[in-house]
Amino acid sequence: MHPDYDDAPLLDRLGRPVRDLRISVTDRCNFRCRYCMPREVFGPDFVFLPRDQVLTFEEITRLARIFRDLGARKIRLTGGEPTLRAELPKLVAMLKEIDGLELTLTTNGTLLAHLAERLAAAGLDRVTVSLDSLDDAVFREMNDMDFPVALVLEGIDAAARAGLGPVKVNAVVRRGVNDHTVYDLARRFRGSGHVLRFIEFMDVGTTNGWRLDEVVPTSELARRIHEAFPLEPLEPHYTGEVAQRYRYADGAGEIGFITSVTQPFCAMCTRARLSADGHLYTCLFATQGTDLRGVLRSGASDGELRTSIAAAWRAREDRYSEIRSEGTASLRRIEMSYIGG
Ligand code: SAM
Ligand code: SF4
Ligand code: SF4
Repeated sequence: MHPDYDDAPLLDRLGRPVRDLRISVTDRCNFRCRYCMPREVFGPDFVFLPRDQVLTFEEITRLARIFRDLGARKIRLTGGEPTLRAELPKLVAMLKEIDGLELTLTTNGTLLAHLAERLAAAGLDRVTVSLDSLDDAVFREMNDMDFPVALVLEGIDAAARAGLGPVKVNAVVRRGVNDHTVYDLARRFRGSGHVLRFIEFMDVGTTNGWRLDEVVPTSELARRIHEAFPLEPLEPHYTGEVAQRYRYADGAGEIGFITSVTQPFCAMCTRARLSADGHLYTCLFATQGTDLRGVLRSGASDGELRTSIAAAWRAREDRYSEIRSEGTASLRRIEMSYIGG
């Protein structure tokens, strides 16, 4: 066991505690990123979760408190697009009542210009904004909603002004799609106080047409960025940090790379995921979850809920990215927009 995990009240079969809880607050989105919710699948006929199947704020808050008791230290609100959930700042305020949790949000940034101040006032600590390219044509095509870059940049600025920084900016890189635009992203966010992180294109779900040859390995990408803007490696902030961190040698701040495909980090993975309809998933690539909503709505006590969550976590032995192979490629995995990225 890692020494950092000595105090954890709950460990899985591989000795990993539950430290991070990612809560998907909706399975809906105003983008149709081709690597996540391709419109051929998530078109007008797609049936999203009906409202009564989605966890209420009270249910989410109750579960979050139990996760905190079991060792969680950080909550990330995600989706789908979490800012589409009505009254999101109210949920943030309710979660803020729970001591000992850092509260973060991952968003496509489209509604941040309107929401950042309210989210910050409600107690949100930080945001991560996804932005795959600064090239407007490339970005419009990637989000497949013809949504312009400028409005996302406004959202990032609004978040920083509201005190939700340093903003992390996540860019998924696909070879032949946006990898020629990575320098502009690096240039734009160097010295801005925001931290750009490149993410390897992952085979989440089964609908995004993932191909290994579209993954730009971090080793290659970091070398390319280093040639343009020299980099020096940084130590991880904490055990289990997923990004490989570098600083610009000229002092223009930090940049990260998330190596989910080429250098998996399952051994340190402390993340639990709660889907919008209250299923607990112990891996991004899970094929099934534990129905906590059913337990909640059967009138269970906190003790009973705690027992269900602890049982699922204790049984956890996921390490999908370490064993990714032909054999796992055909499994029916859960879609990212449902499980929460
Ligand atoms: N809608 C919000 C957003 O885009 O930030 C939150 C949910 S989204 C599923 C969370 C993150 O997952 C985003 O940064 C997105 O780029 C990333 N993502 C989605 N599909 C991915 C894939 N196939 N490979 C790598 N990252 C992916
Ligand atoms: Fe929506 Fe985020 Fe998925 Fe893009 S990555 S389709 S913004 S949920
Ligand atoms: Fe964690 Fe599963 Fe990703 Fe491995 S594959 S890092 S266990 S979510």
